[in-house]
Amino acid sequence: MTKAHKLDCESVSDECRFIIQSENEQEAIELAKKHMKEVHEADYTDEELQNEHLQVV
Ligand SMILES: [Zn+2]
Repeated sequence: MTKAHKLDCESVSDECRFIIQSENEQEAIELAKKHMKEVHEADYTDEELQNEHLQVV
């Protein structure tokens, strides 16, 4: 079974239901970073996203 890296934006924002899921961790981080910046105007580092927001499912 392949693992996927998932970010559920609901854990960051009450209003946002955006979910990122990718088998490629780097891609998941890139998409998450882009979303956080464009939609939430927040800057996260790769490590913050990786450690605090990405789940492995
Ligand atoms: Zn969001």
